[in-house]
Amino acid sequence: MRRITSRAELAAFSKDAGIFAIDPARAYVAESEEEAAQAVRESADDGLSVTPRGGGTSIPSQSVGSGAILVQARASVRLAGDGVVCEPGVIKADLNRELSKSGRWMPVDPSSYASCTVGGMVANNSSGARTLKYGSTVDYLKGVRVVLADGSVMAAGPVTAEEAMSGDRRTARAASLIVENEKEIMEEAPRVTKNSSGYRLEKVARAGALDIQKLFAGSEGTLGVLTEATLKTRGRPRWRVLFVAESTLQELDATAAAFRSIAPAALELVDKSVFRSAGGWGSVSRFSRSESPFLVFCELDGEEGGGAERVEEAAGAVGGLEPLVMTDEGEIAAAWEVRNATLTLAQDMKKGGRRPAPGVEDLAVPQGRLGDLVKLLVGQFERRGLEYILYGHAGDANLHARPLMDLSEPSGVRANDDLMEECFEAVWKMGGSMTGEHGDGMLRAKYVPRQYPRTYHLMEELKRIFDPKGVMNPGVKIAMP
Ligand SMILES: Cc1cc2nc3c(=O)[nH]c(=O)nc-3n(C[C@H](O)[C@H](O)[C@H](O)COP(=O)(O)OP(=O)(O)OC[C@H]3O[C@@H](n4cnc5c(N)ncnc54)[C@H](O)[C@@H]3O)c2cc1C
Repeated sequence: MRRITSRAELAAFSKDAGIFAIDPARAYVAESEEEAAQAVRESADDGLSVTPRGGGTSIPSQSVGSGAILVQARASVRLAGDGVVCEPGVIKADLNRELSKSGRWMPVDPSSYASCTVGGMVANNSSGARTLKYGSTVDYLKGVRVVLADGSVMAAGPVTAEEAMSGDRRTARAASLIVENEKEIMEEAPRVTKNSSGYRLEKVARAGALDIQKLFAGSEGTLGVLTEATLKTRGRPRWRVLFVAESTLQELDATAAAFRSIAPAALELVDKSVFRSAGGWGSVSRFSRSESPFLVFCELDGEEGGGAERVEEAAGAVGGLEPLVMTDEGEIAAAWEVRNATLTLAQDMKKGGRRPAPGVEDLAVPQGRLGDLVKLLVGQFERRGLEYILYGHAGDANLHARPLMDLSEPSGVRANDDLMEECFEAVWKMGGSMTGEHGDGMLRAKYVPRQYPRTYHLMEELKRIFDPKGVMNPGVKIAMP
């Protein structure tokens, strides 16, 4: 195992894609599960916290910490029936390549798929453009192996309620906590199609059985270190077609509703201003001259036949939007590259000291409230005189809005706090989540108790069950006492 202690080398771990820069005391690169366990034990003995880290692409500051950073170099992939067993360091793009050799697919592709890892995706419950039809990472998680805070190793998968209660002491305690409070958990879960705030308790219990592994989906490295994840896979769609239409923000709700009526796999919103300022339009350059500020991408796919009939019917249903229709695979892939590059291009946007700020960048509301979410965000930005970019997952009513703010100034930090406060309150009233896919991190940890006023105490209890001394990623998700 490599132990890194030199300041120069540690600098590579002091930032992720978030706003906080924190120098770690040391870093480990573990080559096996046993080495990962050794790194956790050694850090705990030395009084250091442990922050697991994959590709370091997380946005609300989750993979940085002042103790030890633990990276796992292992990245093997093994097919097992309709599943795939992954070591945590597997990059999602590599997993896609490996699965495509046997016609299989794990459909969750975050835009960061070229650099994010399976460990990070599970720990963040990541989603992607096709979550609308295919779900989030938690929906594909069949089993995990985890190094817990005391250095012991736990394997978790689906079990009957009896097996859970008679299993190891931690599993039994976690299971009874969830079963006894199932009604409150289900009632308080946000009414959204994707959610990465708090622990995914609502996904664990199902009719007499428990998916204990799902406790670790979206746990952001706070319950243990994932050393292996078994993911469900499915057959690849045989055909797909991409519709691209233009929209104003005022029309967005109606445009999304029209596209939703044809049951797409993906329904995405792209802010043209990002490409205008970055100067790169790629394959959607034909839209560069029109005034309309937004593009809506709608992908339809299917596993049966060639899809001709279905596409014709869908094209008729959305004809009023006058969409561009792409059927050529190369052209579709190029258009998606443009969509996926949005945040990367946006991160380089700068106006004086102002940059696209995270905070309200991942709000999710019930699908029918997309128009209300747009009104909320635009109203908030305009009232504060903030320029902004807006894109995201229109189908899931999960928008990535980023105002341009100078967070190096205390006044900018205060203004961002006020913005979060007001937007989160409004989203909670709508039955939504303050984060659909990016997670809570350090940035939003203090708001998690208000996202879950009735069940946050269960999350704190789960943290105590698996990590009683608070070794794992402190300050992330579960606020520091
Ligand atoms: C340009 C860009 C685009 C993005 N697009 C999307 C998107 O479309 N959809 C989406 O959902 N997210 C998106 N994200 C957010 C981020 O990329 C994803 O959450 C991603 O899955 C994180 O993976 P990672 O390997 O980089 O994890 P990291 O950033 O390294 O870590 C993320 C979290 O997981 C924990 N973790 C990592 N590995 C382990 C492990 N082995 N065991 C336990 N915990 C672990 C960390 O402690 C941390 O809390 C985007 C980010 C960027 C910068």
